[in-house]
Amino acid sequence: MKFDTIIIGGGLSALTCGIKLAKAGRDCLIIASGESALSFNSGSFGLLSRLPDGTAVEEPLKAIEQLPSSHPYVKIGIDNTRRYAASAKEFFADCGISLRGTERNLWRYTSSGKMKRCWLAMEDTTAFVSREDKVGDKALIVTVKGFQDFFPGFVAESLEKKGISCRCESIELDELDMLRSNASEMRATNIALTMEKDKIRKSFVKEISRIRQDEDMLILPQIFGYEDTRALEDIRKAVGMPVTFISTLMPSVPGIRTQKMLKKAFEAAGGTLMMGDCVTGAVIEGGKIKSVLTSNLGSYGLEADNFVLATGSFFGKGLASDFTKIYEPVLGLDVDASEKRDEWYSSSFFDRQAFIGFGVKTDNDLHPSRDGEAISNLYAAGSVLSGAESLYEGSGAGVAIITAMYAADKILEG
Ligand SMILES: Cc1cc2nc3c(=O)[nH]c(=O)nc-3n(C[C@H](O)[C@H](O)[C@H](O)COP(=O)(O)OP(=O)(O)OC[C@H]3O[C@@H](n4cnc5c(N)ncnc54)[C@H](O)[C@@H]3O)c2cc1C
Repeated sequence: MKFDTIIIGGGLSALTCGIKLAKAGRDCLIIASGESALSFNSGSFGLLSRLPDGTAVEEPLKAIEQLPSSHPYVKIGIDNTRRYAASAKEFFADCGISLRGTERNLWRYTSSGKMKRCWLAMEDTTAFVSREDKVGDKALIVTVKGFQDFFPGFVAESLEKKGISCRCESIELDELDMLRSNASEMRATNIALTMEKDKIRKSFVKEISRIRQDEDMLILPQIFGYEDTRALEDIRKAVGMPVTFISTLMPSVPGIRTQKMLKKAFEAAGGTLMMGDCVTGAVIEGGKIKSVLTSNLGSYGLEADNFVLATGSFFGKGLASDFTKIYEPVLGLDVDASEKRDEWYSSSFFDRQAFIGFGVKTDNDLHPSRDGEAISNLYAAGSVLSGAESLYEGSGAGVAIITAMYAADKILEG
């Protein structure tokens, strides 16, 4: 079986690249082994919130000029990065995903009530232009009884520092008793699935009306809109006051919905998705990949003219380590990583972690190499790339989207 392009990975980067190629009429296959980082997303995308020296970033597309030459944004060219970033909202809107953002970073609440910068906010992530902005003066913070992945007390503490008075309530719905009987079932995604039913949402809204006093704003966890944003829009209209949605602990309802919608957009554009299979290796001849091998297909190789590696970082299994080295496990590509194990990480969990900046080594066209020899029909995109400390910089989704768009354009240019 032969395709124009085979993309290895099923996360934000793979899907962005696949959609762009499929929409341009390319016969494209995505092979994905499992969950992607989108399932754990905060409900927002980051482009750049902090420079490597720790300086906070207000205008990410201006600040990218200060990044080192090894950073993916600089490698592909600052003008290209700006152009792809500027096209992102329209690209996602075409997939049915509405994102809010400007040239300045927005502020969103984390699940613990802290405020963090973000570039683009998903529909159920309330994001503010300024850290000081507030929707109202009296907040009603509502959760679902038995749900342990949202912390109304922390949120209230944070809002009260802004002069917003808060009251926390939890609503008990009979329809959620099945989930409540087992704490591990009472997760945001399961609640959101239940809340897809109009009747259950109506009961929830009725309870809010019953407990509401003189509050002028409602705060809810992200437990609506599993399949699409219909339930979310419905809740917004029905409660009759401004709603601020705040992220829960993982799994992430907005992240999983985004992933589903991207997959739908890819298939609608004619792409082929092969979920639950894992690329195990490739046949490489004359500096080019001829075919890739997968766990399910054994020695039967899948051929293509171009290949994209979008397997993620350590979390996605795009990178791996043993006691002595960091390596790329699928194709044995060259990596940028410290050889000294004691430089890989800090033992303090909340410190900046060097290993997050490790990744596959590429040239400026994002071609990786093996044993020093570039592979001319292979591109790497997303968090498998070296040079971006996504967690520290707040650049994870930006790098995934922008490098994927760049790789797609390189393939389209031929
Ligand atoms: C837990 C977590 C939360 C994050 N939250 C945010 C956030 O809120 N905002 C933000 O901007 N950034 C966030 N990030 C950063 C994140 O890395 C990027 O936002 C982005 O989603 C990464 O996309 P990706 O496609 O490069 O990699 P991934 O999302 O990791 O996807 C890699 C995919 O490749 C598949 N794969 C791996 N090996 C193979 C193989 N051999 N064969 C087939 N498939 C394979 C994996 O199963 C996975 O589906 C988060 C990262 C993590 C780890």
